[in-house]
Amino acid sequence: MELARPGIRRLDAVTIARIAAGEVIERPSSVVKELVENSLDAGARRIQVSIQEGGQRLIRVVDDGAGIRDGEQLRLAFEQHATSKLSQASDLDAVATLGFRGEALASIAAVSQVTAVSRAADGQGHRLRIDNGRLIDLAPCGAAPGTSITVENLFNAVPARRKFLRQPGTEAAQIQDLVARYALAFPDLAFELSIDGRESLRSGGGSIAAALRAVLGAEAAAALLPAMDDRADLRPPAGPLRVEGFVSPQHLHRATKRYVVLLVNGRPIQDARLHHAIFDAYRGLIPKGRFPLALLKVSLPPEGVDVNVHPAKAEVRFRDARAVYGAVQRAVVTALGGRLPIAPAGSLDPGAEWRRPVAAGSAGPSERGFTQLPAPLPALGEQASAGYGVAAGSEAAPIGLPALRLLGQLAQAYLVAEGPDGLYLVDQHAAHERIMYERMLDREGPLASQSLLAPAAVSVGAAVVAWVQERADRLQKLGILAEPFGPDSLLLRALPEVLAGAGDPGETLRTLLDLAREGGRPGEAALEERVLRAVCKRASVKAGQTLQEAEMRRLLSDLETCRQPRTCPHGRPTVILLSRARVDQLFGR
Ligand code: ADP
Ligand code: MG
Repeated sequence: MELARPGIRRLDAVTIARIAAGEVIERPSSVVKELVENSLDAGARRIQVSIQEGGQRLIRVVDDGAGIRDGEQLRLAFEQHATSKLSQASDLDAVATLGFRGEALASIAAVSQVTAVSRAADGQGHRLRIDNGRLIDLAPCGAAPGTSITVENLFNAVPARRKFLRQPGTEAAQIQDLVARYALAFPDLAFELSIDGRESLRSGGGSIAAALRAVLGAEAAAALLPAMDDRADLRPPAGPLRVEGFVSPQHLHRATKRYVVLLVNGRPIQDARLHHAIFDAYRGLIPKGRFPLALLKVSLPPEGVDVNVHPAKAEVRFRDARAVYGAVQRAVVTALGGRLPIAPAGSLDPGAEWRRPVAAGSAGPSERGFTQLPAPLPALGEQASAGYGVAAGSEAAPIGLPALRLLGQLAQAYLVAEGPDGLYLVDQHAAHERIMYERMLDREGPLASQSLLAPAAVSVGAAVVAWVQERADRLQKLGILAEPFGPDSLLLRALPEVLAGAGDPGETLRTLLDLAREGGRPGEAALEERVLRAVCKRASVKAGQTLQEAEMRRLLSDLETCRQPRTCPHGRPTVILLSRARVDQLFGR
């Protein structure tokens, strides 16, 4: 028996869109990606994403961007191959927007129920509803300037797709990663993500430092190393190539690759070979199966890269791929192995980069400590023979302190020492802070605590009482025992032992809490470090204290054994160097 063969006919628009949707919209995170990119293309400053049930039940992206001018344009936005971002094929060679294919909204609307509300600043707002590719209604409405797109019941009408969805928790985690990557890629903008009604990410916008903190937590963000390479040019005609960003030092690594963020001309991309170039640079430095953190921006002339090779625009093709991989790898290797000079004294802008290590967005996250490799401590200038798999452009000296010979004390505040490169001044307070801090971090068990002879009532304000109450257990492990005492006071029972001689206990507690609560909303994981830093600050040898020679020697040798001897826990330098060459120069030799 022969089956009747249907004749050839054109598919209807709904079917075409549903087939196309399969390419662009694979899972809930693809919807979020497309909507967020549209918001970015619309010049939004603030992008709010909310999802329910892993995005399958609901995804909403609200932006304050340019909006869509009128009802007709809004309807057109949801048609296939309708875009405002390209007008002719030749534009494809230099796409400056994230989107350009004009198929995302059509694809999303083909496989879900969409409600879009949009208003241009000087236009009338409109609402459009589409149910799995079919227009339900389009009408004027009141709306804030910008665009809000709500996607409900994704893939409900496409059982084959629905089957491939993972647990809501897994889908939500992917969305969380995605939004985090955009927050890093566009640090000037505010991103918010709420998952099932709970805020799971808030990046305030402002600086790369703030975005890194919001995404990675304060401690990891502060540890990142600036990475840069601008030594290579692409083969003509493409021109200059520049890589810059941040990478993790070797002691900081994660179990997944998801914290490696690559941007090519501002577009977040995935590129297995670029990832490889980065992982290669860490070979032998971090344990197998662990991955570094990296945020690297590659900038090159638009002619040097083709962005139209992947339906979701997640991959790109480089005209001169080798040059790009080489530059990325050099940037990472140099960041990891490159020699961080001890701040030279008497340079044109003496020690400026030490006091406030690096300006936001340029060389490193502001407020970040001058972070160094927790390397063993060969003398400075010694060639690193450690397994840096790839040859760095510069001498790769691990970052430590050379052996120093004590000469004396200056102004009861600085130790004066001689080292292989010249004269070193060591800030005794900063050095002591560093030493104590690392010891406390390395201790096992709770921090030794000392009870007050008589518990002291300390008025701190209701917010601080609540803050302490929420963290009572963790604070107790750090030697701080305080309990609510009326609405805005604490009853202080014990403080860390090292603070025994640090003056009025109530004042000490206030100082500790101020310092520990500082800095917006850093990741909870960093609480311990913040408290310890505060404890060290309060407890360490103050400037203005005369030290015995033996004490000074101890301080120097203890500092030499620190993992990061060159900065105090707050990022200020512990040591500055007046080089032999500079001394010669000053004497006119
Ligand atoms: P593409 O982004 O490739 O142009 P889309 O289907 O994602 O295609 O969007 C179609 C068009 O709808 C865009 O070109 C843009 O003009 C408009 N649009 C989509 N989202 C927004 C938004 N959030 N704000 C303003 N305009 C938007
Ligand atoms: Mg788009």
